[in-house]
Amino acid sequence: MIIPRVNRLTPEQEAELKAITAEFGITLRVIQGDQRTVYAMVGDETSELLINRVEGLDYIERVDTIQAPYKLMARENPLSQHTIRVGDKVLGRDLVVLAGPCTIDPKNPGLFFDTAHAVKEAGADGLRGGVWKPRTNPHSFQGDAKSLDILLEARQKVGLPVITEVMDEEQLNLAVDAGVDMLQIGARNALNYSLLREVGRKVNGKPITVLLKRGIHMGQLDEFILAGEYIVAGGNPNLILCPRGTLPTMDGYRNHPDESITPLLKAKTWAPVVVDPSHSVGKAVYVPLAALAAAAYGADGLIVETHINPKAGIGDDPKQAVTPDVLAGLIQDARRIHGQSRKYLEQITLKKSP
Ligand code: PEP
Ligand code: MN
Repeated sequence: MIIPRVNRLTPEQEAELKAITAEFGITLRVIQGDQRTVYAMVGDETSELLINRVEGLDYIERVDTIQAPYKLMARENPLSQHTIRVGDKVLGRDLVVLAGPCTIDPKNPGLFFDTAHAVKEAGADGLRGGVWKPRTNPHSFQGDAKSLDILLEARQKVGLPVITEVMDEEQLNLAVDAGVDMLQIGARNALNYSLLREVGRKVNGKPITVLLKRGIHMGQLDEFILAGEYIVAGGNPNLILCPRGTLPTMDGYRNHPDESITPLLKAKTWAPVVVDPSHSVGKAVYVPLAALAAAAYGADGLIVETHINPKAGIGDDPKQAVTPDVLAGLIQDARRIHGQSRKYLEQITLKKSP
């Protein structure tokens, strides 16, 4: 941590600063340049309390941290050697595609089974299907726990690993105990720290991967990465970060597309990045282009809302789901682009690897 751009403090101020840092077991070094003085605090970078105490002094403008505030998620962490798989695919090597409807319709399981077969045919590696849904309107369909059985039956039928979103502890326990392969923590819960902590605890020791969506209001990348740190801190490093668009929206799209943060995330953390072009642009006709852009930006995978008959779907599907034939085309094209973007990505990741 450094305190930059201050003129030399008075001896009394320096003494006060030294006393505070000493309380935290940190050494204060004074680096005196010809134009300015920098105070360097050498030690544990992550003590928020120390930063707050120092920034609270009326003669200190700000404290800059040099190390990242996250320890587990940093590229420098040995966890960067950890491999995360989806089925027989390896994130970081293969472009991994998760596909399926926004929402499983518990009244029509056949539609979900047919979609599951079709996305597998199209080349998807995992099957998504919303059991419980975060809906803006409390009177809209909220999902149904019965759909969990439908999701698992579809896995049985088509042999793809399955992913579904959980929004609270009860759903988390039901989904994990039922044996889902992957959990989604949605954009609305990306800042729900008690849920993130609970997810970390629950998946510890289990072969479950968590896909964490970027919060709709998350402006800072570190905020996103730190949310992931909560989960990994539970003991299971099978974590994927998922940009899915943010607010404010870009004119005409559902959210502000943010696949472009992929290389920035890659430079900071080892976590694989799976982009959601569906919620980002929010309209089926734009989804393939957004998916290809994500592949060009170096995404390790895509999660694409897909329905065999979008008009017959519920939740986001009538507006945003692509059909399996569109999915098949975009997977082929995205895999080609993914192969090409690898070499540019390596310039970012190799430089920073341990
Ligand atoms: C979804 O995947 O259907 C969903 C609700 O996602 P998000 O949390 O990104 O809105
Ligand atoms: Mn959706």
